[in-house]
Amino acid sequence: MPEYETRVGMECHAELLTESKMFCGCRNEFGGEPNSRTCPVCLGLPGSLPVMNKKAVEHVVRTALALNCTISLHSIFHRKNYFYPDLPKGYQISQYGNTPIGTNGWLEIERADGTTKRIRITRVHLEEDTGKLIHSDGAGYSVVDYNRSGVPLMEIVTDFPPDIESAEEARLYAETLRSVLLYLQVSDGKMEQGSLRAEPNPSVRPVGSDTFGVKTELKNLNSFRSVQRGIEYEAKRQIEVIEGGGRVVQETRGWDDDKGVSFSQRSKEVEQEYRYFPEPDLIPLDFDVKWLDSLRESLPELPNEKKRRLAEQYGLPASDAAQLVLERETADFFEAAAKGAKDPKAIANWMLGDLARLANAESVPVHATQVTPGALAGMVGLIESGAITGKIAKSVLEEMVATGKTAAQVVEEKGLTVSGADEVAGIVANVVAANPDVVAKIKAGNDKSIGFLVGQVMKESKGRAKPDDVNRLLKDEIAKQ
Ligand SMILES: [Zn+2]
Repeated sequence: MPEYETRVGMECHAELLTESKMFCGCRNEFGGEPNSRTCPVCLGLPGSLPVMNKKAVEHVVRTALALNCTISLHSIFHRKNYFYPDLPKGYQISQYGNTPIGTNGWLEIERADGTTKRIRITRVHLEEDTGKLIHSDGAGYSVVDYNRSGVPLMEIVTDFPPDIESAEEARLYAETLRSVLLYLQVSDGKMEQGSLRAEPNPSVRPVGSDTFGVKTELKNLNSFRSVQRGIEYEAKRQIEVIEGGGRVVQETRGWDDDKGVSFSQRSKEVEQEYRYFPEPDLIPLDFDVKWLDSLRESLPELPNEKKRRLAEQYGLPASDAAQLVLERETADFFEAAAKGAKDPKAIANWMLGDLARLANAESVPVHATQVTPGALAGMVGLIESGAITGKIAKSVLEEMVATGKTAAQVVEEKGLTVSGADEVAGIVANVVAANPDVVAKIKAGNDKSIGFLVGQVMKESKGRAKPDDVNRLLKDEIAKQ
């Protein structure tokens, strides 16, 4: 069997964060009573006219700039004609051909081994979302909700031939892209709600082949994990088809996350004829260079730049920095806590470890717990000064998340400060006296048995004794026996 290589093109759709829809005044938000946010424009009633949402245009331009694209100073909209119940107008307003807002950009991803790669982006364009069909199980009919009809939608397409060479790279691309959208505040990036949709089209070919294999398009991937799993599955399936003497069919395939399989949805063997033509009811977009410059200047520090800066400025490992910058608020939280801290790495460890775990249990991000950056810095300070042990800090942090109190308040109220050496010495003497057989073993040369005594002392002191003190005092006490 020849060796195969995978190539993946990516089409990503992001619903834009705007007050109103793309071409009408209906509110743009998720969910709600079906068909409660509709009007003649987004229902496609005859005689209604679209009016462009400026904010949506601005969001797409800022994204295209952040993705290093060339911005078209003049771009137009088209009608993409097809019939489907979720599209009441009978056409979708989109941008077609060589006039998208952004072209020829790139996004850099960082692989697990720290190496980076540029993924070229061919276009970033603006269009409108469709309604949503809801299939009733077994009842034999479907209903349609037009609340999503006309919601501004941005499409971001990678270049051909594809730069993405594995399922992992595709996942990293989707994750990095989502971070950029969150930093720009142009989308809420919720894959589980479908406001960010990643549609990979993987293909395989024998290594050394100079033509690309037939690609399939994957849909219904509603997490980064399913992006990776779906592509891994699909590449394997395609190889099996080819090795079995068959031929891969160009089609759209759905992903069943529970079963871990893809299934055929719609053949794409015959190119659909959408009869694109320029939208006559909208004027072209003509951008002013000064306006573009002001948008360029308004771009925030983006995740990749922030990652490099945090690693350098705070001496963090690249993997920690990469995790901290995934969401802008998390990075801001870290910087606020690390400002003036003796050991920023300790702050990062607590954020990515215990605090992340506690926040996760409450289903909120780290920055949305009751713990403020100052309070976390205060807790790390108490450990550094020796006032509490790292072990005690774990329970202190739990209390801080639950109550919003500072570490000092929790320590004070619960009497959690480290026990004084005298107190520990007393406990050590009792433990040694109570365990003569263990002491005898240690004196006979079984050093490991001291661990049992350390454990007893820590238990008696309720974890407030410093392990260094305990070890030293135990050795002294045993030597006296
Ligand atoms: Zn409307």
